[in-house]
This record gives sequence, structure tokens and C-alpha cells, in this order.
Amino acid sequence: MKELNYIRVVLVEPTHPGNIGAAARAMGNMGVEQLVLVNPSEFPSPVASARASGADWILENARVCTSLDEALEDCTLVFGTTARMRSIEWPSLDPWSAMENARDRIKDTPVAIVFGRESSGLKNEEMDRCHHLVRIPVNDVFSSLNLGSAVTVMLYELRKGMIVAEQEIDQHSTTDNNLSKPVAKKSRQEFASTGDMQGFYAHMEDVLHKIDFFDGRSTKLMRKLIRLFNRAQPSREEINIMRGILAAVEYREKCRSDSSSSLNSR
Ligand code: SAH
Repeated sequence: MKELNYIRVVLVEPTHPGNIGAAARAMGNMGVEQLVLVNPSEFPSPVASARASGADWILENARVCTSLDEALEDCTLVFGTTARMRSIEWPSLDPWSAMENARDRIKDTPVAIVFGRESSGLKNEEMDRCHHLVRIPVNDVFSSLNLGSAVTVMLYELRKGMIVAEQEIDQHSTTDNNLSKPVAKKSRQEFASTGDMQGFYAHMEDVLHKIDFFDGRSTKLMRKLIRLFNRAQPSREEINIMRGILAAVEYREKCRSDSSSSLNSR
């Protein structure tokens, strides 16, 4: 299951080093190795090492970042996990469908599963970086899992799905060799990474301000636009086309304001 190398577990501002260790232990169990910590309160820590119970290699190779954008820069698919139903309607998936999507994508590029703070989970701006929100369907009146347990459940769903898929391929190939060729993979599409998307969103926001589109509604509208484009999961080429359109709008806007200021100065 080499593809599991493409899975990245991102913990945002974990407060308790014990939870970092528990997450590392779960990762070791499930065969996932890329751990990224965004501004951990305490790391490295002997408490984290003790709770990792031998998954030291994961802690030793963990990357510490100062922002979520840095952690996700090269990822083309991002899942945000949450214990709460959110008031804003985010595109959401159950853990098994989410991990099925992840399985398809990790043949190509890094896929991140993002976990929030113990006290308050993920902020809305952080959810903006995610293509899907995932909630493990536990008891509605007591829905907050321990961080390490949430990592275990998500990675278990991923691993279980991979085992089932492998078994299905094996079964086909022993029952009928001619008909059992695995379905041809979708042609590889170069998906835009989180870094590409953040660049595009900043550019779009800037242009929409320049043409006075927002009329004081920028945060809400930007969030809706971000959700639209995240749902589309565009390729890098498509994002380049969108940026070309934005550049053309900027150019027109500049010509328009240059000509009106030269008219005014006459
Ligand atoms: N009080 C926080 C809970 C944080 S628990 C809140 O209300 O959001 C810490 C993290 O564990 C969460 O941010 C999420 O990443 C993960 N988590 C906990 N329970 C979960 C659940 N039921 N489904 C998905 N993720 C969960």
C-alpha cells in the first residue's frame, strides 16, 4: 500500500502533546507516515513520544509549519474533519465516501486530512481550504471524539477501503483473466494544488474589489465562490485560464480608468 505515502495528516494547533503522540501511533498502525503540525503548543515532547508507543519514526519525520497554507501547499484534495455540524453549508461527506475519494486521488498527488484544535476545532477560514467536510457519525449529543481517536477512525476507513479494493481486484483476476482487467484509470489530470487555488482566490478577490463588485459583501461572497471552485476541483490548466480571464479584466479596467482620468484632466 505504497499509495498511503501520499496521505498527509495535518493537526492544526494541537494543545496537548499526548494527542500528537496518539495521532502518530494511529498513523503507524494504519501505515500512514506524513504528519504535519501547524503551530503545536509543545513539540517535540517526551509526552508525545510516550503516547506514540514506538511510532517514533513518525514523530521524528513530522514537519512543523507556521500556517495551514504552508502545510497544504502541494495538496490537490483536502478533507477537513469536524465534530460539529456547521451553520454554513459546507460540501460534506461521510468518512467512508471521503476516504474512497482519497483513495482514487492518492495514486497521483498528496491528499490531506486536517484535524482541528482540541478546544474549538477548525475555524471557518480553515474550512475554506478544504474540498469536503467530514464528520464521523457518532452520538449527536456527545459528538466530539478525542483527536487521536478521530485520526484512528479516518485512517481505518481509508485502510479498510484499500484492503477491500485489493481483494476485489484479486478476486476478479482469479475468476476470469480476460474480463478482470482493472478498469482503466482515468487519464491523469494535473489537479490544481492548494497553493494554486489560494493564489487564484487572492487574485479573484483583488479583481472583484477593483471592479467594485463586492459592495460590502466580500467575506460571504468570497466564501461562496471558494466553495464553488473547490467543488469543481479544477485542473492547473483550468486555473491558469481563470487567471488569464482575471488578468484581462484587470487590463480592461486599467484602460478604462486611464482613459477616464485623461478625459477628466482635459
Ligand atoms: N470542541 C471541538 C472538538 C474538537 S475535537 C469542536 O467543537 O469542534 C478535535 C478534533 O478532532 C476536531 O477538530 C476534529 O478534527 C476531530 N474530531 C473530533 N470529533 C470528530 C467527529 N465526530 N468527526 C470528525 N472529526 C472529529
